[in-house]
Amino acid sequence: MEFRDLKKQYQVLKEEIDRAILNVCQEANFISGFQVQLLEEQLAEYVGVKYCVSCANGTDALTLALMVWNVKQGDAVFVPDFTFFASGECPAFLGATPIFVDVDEDTYNMDPQKLEEAIIRVKESGKYFPKAVIAVDLFGLPADYTQIQTICKRYGILLLEDGAQGFGGGINGRRACSFGDISTTSFFPAKPLGCYGDGGAVFTNNENWAEMLRSYAVHGKGGVDKYNNVRIGMNSRLDTLQAAILLAKLNAFRNYEVENVNKIAALYDNILKKKQFRLPKVPEGFYSSWAQYTIQLPNKTERIKTQERLKEHAIPSAVYYAKPMHTQKAFSGTDSAVSYCPVTEKLCNRVLSLPIHPYMTEEMIDLIGRIL
Ligand SMILES: *Cc1c(COP(=O)(O)O)cnc(C)c1O
Repeated sequence: MEFRDLKKQYQVLKEEIDRAILNVCQEANFISGFQVQLLEEQLAEYVGVKYCVSCANGTDALTLALMVWNVKQGDAVFVPDFTFFASGECPAFLGATPIFVDVDEDTYNMDPQKLEEAIIRVKESGKYFPKAVIAVDLFGLPADYTQIQTICKRYGILLLEDGAQGFGGGINGRRACSFGDISTTSFFPAKPLGCYGDGGAVFTNNENWAEMLRSYAVHGKGGVDKYNNVRIGMNSRLDTLQAAILLAKLNAFRNYEVENVNKIAALYDNILKKKQFRLPKVPEGFYSSWAQYTIQLPNKTERIKTQERLKEHAIPSAVYYAKPMHTQKAFSGTDSAVSYCPVTEKLCNRVLSLPIHPYMTEEMIDLIGRIL
């Protein structure tokens, strides 16, 4: 069994994908071909925002957004303690100080109350300027934006939605990657919408920011001319091949993949609720795109035993994430390492992600249910 079956997906979509790749090879517009702009238009429409700027990967997408806001040394950026490294790496890369905030035990997402406490602490200490919040849509579930947006407004802090895992999810009919002042996603192959290499995108309704994003992503170009450079930027483009593949995949994604993966998650819920695991919770009105289906075991020993039992039946599983952000060596000795996040510490010892993707069958879930 595959953890995320990209081979199966290719077999199903082979005709469209092969044609898309071949077209790009024949046209030979490998950078900035027409597919890139077409994809940006379709992604913006799908998400429900005015502007989409594609780029080379989800990490660059976060960095570009923070560059537009001039995030720099002396700024505090609030990041969940339980996430992929890039969420904290990007603000630190720009010299800012990530302040790690604990998460909710049931949704795995940033705890709004802990966020507010952290903002107050930073304001009172006066050491850093509270500049931005990076809320992560972990495992496919949007963060609690109703509350987080209110807190950001209350304290005049910018909100960046890291939707790398959340693309396709939503809250009350509004789609993920529309909740931040700027939102980002990743098209890394194993993400909900993946390409065949690295890729990413940034979303916003702000025209001025969209223009700056386009500039920063292409050597700080001024207007359309990349040989007229008005700011220090980077080289971060989505190439035409990836855009063409994403266009082919986006149809399947919006027509049935997200729906199917939700059916798979419901089958898991049904089978596993009889056992003693804590299951991932999707709050009322929320919709997940299920980048991961993550359960909780009673402790680390039980988790190891469970993983071994699954492995004996050739079923892969993974631990996302084994380490709280604030304990990563890269942050040691900085104020980012000073953090109290007991929920994250508990989760890191207990979580286990099971295979999930839109092309799983009921038989596969039954088999995993029997082994667990
Ligand atoms: C994958 C991921 C990223 C980075 O995306 P890349 O395309 O791999 O650079 C950022 N944040 C989160 C939460 C992710 O899961």
